[in-house]
Amino acid sequence: MHAAAKDLVIASGNAGKVREFGKLLADLGLETQPQPQGLEVEETGNTFAENARLKAIAVARATSCWALADDSGLSVDALGGAPGVHSARYADSDSARIERLLHELAEAGAHTPATRSAHFTAALALANPAGEVVLEVEGICPGQILQAPRGEGGFGYDPVFFVPEAGLTFAEMPHSQKAELGHRGRAFAALKPQLRAALTHDKQ
Ligand code: IMP
Repeated sequence: MHAAAKDLVIASGNAGKVREFGKLLADLGLETQPQPQGLEVEETGNTFAENARLKAIAVARATSCWALADDSGLSVDALGGAPGVHSARYADSDSARIERLLHELAEAGAHTPATRSAHFTAALALANPAGEVVLEVEGICPGQILQAPRGEGGFGYDPVFFVPEAGLTFAEMPHSQKAELGHRGRAFAALKPQLRAALTHDKQ
């Protein structure tokens, strides 16, 4: 028999991410749990979707529960899509990652806003307890990389990621605005109705 909906495991070892997912899914009446300790899934995929899929499948198989995984990152057009799936590993700290990004863009001769276009992607994958992916969505937020950081909020590349439709960087936005316009928020908005349907169907 399949696990009940309340057994949704968030395929991440990151406590902050598990909490954030929990909040986003609370109004679906789901209780989320972190993946078992010590379970490491290698992100060997070439795309965000592939990595999300790998993580969801591995965690579903290990727990025999429904598993929801995400993978996200920044793709910069002038850098051929880099840092892409390597966003987290681009350098050793958030400030070093931003410094490298600005350096590479200068090296590439990308000095005008039009040549500094970029987008964030968040891919989500849901696997059933048998380890089959039953749902996949992607959220994208287009923007531009600024010449210098702006704003105090957020994390990662937020201070240099400018969203023209808001006139602000991710780091300057109130949390609610990033949740609405951001890649993760958009991916969750696409996921929610389908997730409800998938889990409801499973209980019947
Ligand atoms: P993940 O945990 O494998 O999805 O790694 C995502 C990496 O992409 C993070 O470590 C950040 O460097 C970057 N990233 C993803 N989402 C955001 C965001 O909303 N703001 C800033 N950086 C982000």
